[in-house]
Amino acid sequence: MADVMTESETETDVAVVGGGPAGLHAALVLARGGLSVTLIDESDTLGGQYYKRRAEQLAVAFGDFRPRGTELIREVRDAGVVCRTGTLVWGAEDGGRTLFTSDVRTGALGRVRARATVAATGAYERSLPFPGWTLPGVVTPGLALHLATMDRVPVGSRVVLAGTGPFLLPVACALLEAGAGIEALVELNHPYRPRPSAVAGALRQPARLAEAARYLLTLARHGVRVEQGARVLAAYGDTQVTAVDIAGADGGVRRVETDALCVGFGFRPSTELPRLLGCPTRPDRTGTEQLPVVDADGATSVDGLYVAGDGAGIAGVHAAGVRGQLAAHAILRRLAPGRSPVRVAGLRRRARALDRFAALADRLYPLPAEAVADIPDATQVCRCEGVTAGEIRQAVATGWNDLHGAKAATRAGMGPCQGRECGHIVAALARRDEAEGFAARMPIRPLPMAATVEGQEVR
Ligand SMILES: Cc1cc2nc3c(=O)[nH]c(=O)nc-3n(C[C@H](O)[C@H](O)[C@H](O)COP(=O)(O)OP(=O)(O)OC[C@H]3O[C@@H](n4cnc5c(N)ncnc54)[C@H](O)[C@@H]3O)c2cc1C
Repeated sequence: MADVMTESETETDVAVVGGGPAGLHAALVLARGGLSVTLIDESDTLGGQYYKRRAEQLAVAFGDFRPRGTELIREVRDAGVVCRTGTLVWGAEDGGRTLFTSDVRTGALGRVRARATVAATGAYERSLPFPGWTLPGVVTPGLALHLATMDRVPVGSRVVLAGTGPFLLPVACALLEAGAGIEALVELNHPYRPRPSAVAGALRQPARLAEAARYLLTLARHGVRVEQGARVLAAYGDTQVTAVDIAGADGGVRRVETDALCVGFGFRPSTELPRLLGCPTRPDRTGTEQLPVVDADGATSVDGLYVAGDGAGIAGVHAAGVRGQLAAHAILRRLAPGRSPVRVAGLRRRARALDRFAALADRLYPLPAEAVADIPDATQVCRCEGVTAGEIRQAVATGWNDLHGAKAATRAGMGPCQGRECGHIVAALARRDEAEGFAARMPIRPLPMAATVEGQEVR
């Protein structure tokens, strides 16, 4: 890619891609350690998913959303970190020492050269197709949460919230606070009737347990019951979702009228950047995703490349912060020996404890294989290219029985999202035993049109 034409060029000791909890903590430790740091995020504001910022008028009217985020961002800026928001990293080479960027508003291309890079690119929500999932009014819990907390807009007045994961609880509470009514809260698993071994594991993280208890109490106060062992079968409506079929734990199916359906099945790590740079991967604990192989501090086998936060494995906001700090200390030890006086043993212990808690969550909220096997043939799996589950199954039956074959035969995963949404489902339909992902290629995210016109050329 040596002939990519660029408008701007930046030199820095360390580039941190992603301004969520992991990237912010990494940038802060690095800058306080005396290195020059450029923190890049495609969003307009820093904070990532957990420390999202409210628009100023809403912050004045409704208060600061998660004040710790405001404080952390201020600390990062005060430490001298160069913050490049509204900047997408769409490619990289030389082990991440050269990053290709694009201004998300103007499309202006740039290049950041660094001695080391931290990929802290977070996660995506996991969706599973079902009949009607592309109807207007069917959204992910993350979008519903964003609207409720950032814009104070309830996604509907009679919401059905479904899927699996602890994330459904804060989303339900935020919807209630924003004025939504909840028609049904449908959890696929039975996490709130756990086995004694799971209770013992949860007791080792009392703060997380207390958080879950607070959400459950809020829901109980509003008369919202978590229906366990239940799932959404199909959504109906012409121009908007109006009804949902729910299969209960007893096998009975009932129809619920609704004006918004939020369905999510946890999170999937965003791993495009390390994979693009040739970082080896391994299946995660659940066997459904490929994770970059990293050591205890987030170092990859690609010299100078570190991965931190949910992109190294879904473990939540607290683990993301700790992993960001660990990666930063590892870089300081290497680039500025003597400037990392902190003993990292305590951080590593905390990271391991938080990882154990994340493993417990994986066991409490598993994604059963039937969830994919039961997708009806007529249901669209790849929204970008309009490919159905039946077309993928047919391709597999005629011999295209791996991910790349199924992609070549059906075009599933060839659209603008490059399989980020559907890749895990295509892989499962292609009956692979192990998690497998589409290859990461530049651009790792769609580039604004402006980046490829007006005399700028990306070859
Ligand atoms: C939609 C959503 C909502 C969530 N809400 C909650 C919640 O309410 N409570 C909770 O406990 N947990 C929540 N989580 C999980 C929690 O946010 C994460 O565990 C935590 O934020 C992980 O921190 P991180 O720094 O690894 O990633 P993130 O916070 O996701 O930050 C990653 C950042 O990287 C940026 N980025 C990614 N790729 C690029 C690129 N190529 N170029 C430039 N920038 C890039 C993104 O814009 C983002 O700001 C949510 C997760 C998601 C996906």
